[in-house]
Amino acid sequence: MKIFLAEHRGFCYGVKRAVDMAINSLDVNCPVHTLGPIIHNPQMISHLNELGISTVDKLEEIAAGKVIIRSHGVGPDIYDQAASKQLQVVDATCPHVKKAQQAAHDFLLANYKVVIIGEPHHPEVQSILAWTNQAASVVETPAEAKALPHYSRLGVVAQTTFAADRFQAIVTILQAKCQDIKIERTICTATDLRQQAAINLAQKVDIMIVVGGKNSANTARLASVCQDTGKAAYHIESANELQPEWFTGVQTAGITAGASTPDWVIKEVYEKMEALTMTDISKVENGSIIEGTVVGVRHDEVFVDIGYKAEGVIPLSELAYPAPQTATEIVSVGQIIEVLVLDADSADGQVNLSKIQADRITAWDKLEQALTDKLPLETKITEVVKGGLVSSVFGIRGFIPASHVDLRFVEDLQPFVGQTVQVIPIEIDREKQKAILSRKQLLAQERAVKEKELFATLAVGQNITGKVSRLTDFGAFVDVGGVDGLIHISDLSWQRVKNPQEVVNVGDEVTVVILKVDPEAKKLALSLKDLERDPWYATVETLAMGTVLTGKVSKLAKFGAFVELKKGIEGLVHISEIAERRVASPEEVVSVGQQVAVKILAIDKENKRIGLSIVQAEQDKERAEFSDYLSTQAPSSGVTLGDKFGHLFKRED
Ligand code: SF4
Repeated sequence: MKIFLAEHRGFCYGVKRAVDMAINSLDVNCPVHTLGPIIHNPQMISHLNELGISTVDKLEEIAAGKVIIRSHGVGPDIYDQAASKQLQVVDATCPHVKKAQQAAHDFLLANYKVVIIGEPHHPEVQSILAWTNQAASVVETPAEAKALPHYSRLGVVAQTTFAADRFQAIVTILQAKCQDIKIERTICTATDLRQQAAINLAQKVDIMIVVGGKNSANTARLASVCQDTGKAAYHIESANELQPEWFTGVQTAGITAGASTPDWVIKEVYEKMEALTMTDISKVENGSIIEGTVVGVRHDEVFVDIGYKAEGVIPLSELAYPAPQTATEIVSVGQIIEVLVLDADSADGQVNLSKIQADRITAWDKLEQALTDKLPLETKITEVVKGGLVSSVFGIRGFIPASHVDLRFVEDLQPFVGQTVQVIPIEIDREKQKAILSRKQLLAQERAVKEKELFATLAVGQNITGKVSRLTDFGAFVDVGGVDGLIHISDLSWQRVKNPQEVVNVGDEVTVVILKVDPEAKKLALSLKDLERDPWYATVETLAMGTVLTGKVSKLAKFGAFVELKKGIEGLVHISEIAERRVASPEEVVSVGQQVAVKILAIDKENKRIGLSIVQAEQDKERAEFSDYLSTQAPSSGVTLGDKFGHLFKRED
């Protein structure tokens, strides 16, 4: 990992000057105090304490000696009190702050209403306010500026660390309110420079570390502007807070620090970061496996940063199995890889590494683990050999027997070459360098899971779409999303089907109705015909009881003859309705294929049965002939009705 420092970071001029003045004021014969913490940095405060400089909140706490005024400055009353107590004053007020105090004081003397643009509770603002006898107004927001009453003269100063854009927005409002306005732009550029440098660096690196007191507003702001660039940024007070996991996979890191962070704290952070990401040099010895980051890829070699004094190099032959055409096929810059150290101190000053050997060593561990846990692995098929496929798994040779390539036996294995497939190991023997893999078992596992999930969603009566996967004599199998359901031949159509191919073909997409679901037996019965209403009912609607139709004898049975009235509609002429005379067998009167007139005696929709009569159809015909006859004969012909049609009436009786 490469570490960069922000161009502007840490102590500003004013803070450095104050700290230097404090240290220089040390005197063995005289106690030294700072009025308030000299900077917002606990490490620095305790360091000064160790040197003999204590911190007090009020002058009353000091009996004698020196008092250091920190860079934020104080009001004139403090100088007066110190003088009256005969304390030696070491005035470390930053010259920029002094300038703001002086400007505010001058405005006051010139009878201008003083406005301080800044944070009301900031010690620096408090010190400026004191130089106006507490007469100034402190404005932090544009809304507060708008709320100010009208003044004929305004004198404006700024907290030195106030944001420039907000300062300008407030000034614009004040200018609109007052004709006679004087502005002292007492903003210090140190904060802007530090923030801009942090943003520039954050945009270049993977991660930013922002060092400074947790109660330091300018450090918190630095962390915030770094995060706004979209990069991870961590605000820490000291090196102890650095977490190794922050740097996993990180190539470049940046460090910036708030205005109150001493250089030695930044240095500690830098060194700790280096140590965290540096490989333990003792681990870089021949035969050890270490992690490194690819920092360069050429056609025939790869350069790896292993956190060692010298860069590691992997030649193409040590990169992968099978040997690639070019190194870019295997690795890319930034990738973290495991390598075996072949020669830690080669004659040409580089560390010779092997990825392929490291992969081999770790591969057996991974394969054994995968075998135990039945974990899937990725493997690339490299060639077809007798009995199966050869593949590369973690850089070692694997073998997939032909019977384990797919759920069904695959005749032609050639299309698998070059594919990367998922497998599970079924036999691993490190000694014999044997790795037997199965794609079939993994597919079976996946299918079982899929089946379970699918069966949970299936219900009788549900319509579902699938693809015809195969045909048999007894029906068609349909893949409905990982499960093959069967449409029995009798459920393919309402018409009689001799071969499923009459209705569907392999690959057809069909919508079917679920007839039966059996998750235990993993069986699914489907119907294609049930999607439509039984055409028998539609046709039978057109038939009426008592009508006479002509039909074709389709089949003979002992008890009668079946007559097809329309396509798909058959009725039965019972043997007693075949002829007026008693017959022993239907064949005595009718034969298959013969056209006969039949009368509909009954329609039983529930049982889909139609009762027919040849006898009654003939009688109806004769009655009709008789009616015709009567209408054409004179009343006294001498022939009686009994002579001509008596047999009809006898039967009906
Ligand atoms: S930030 Fe600027 S004004 Fe404040 S102490 Fe530092 S140099 Fe002085």
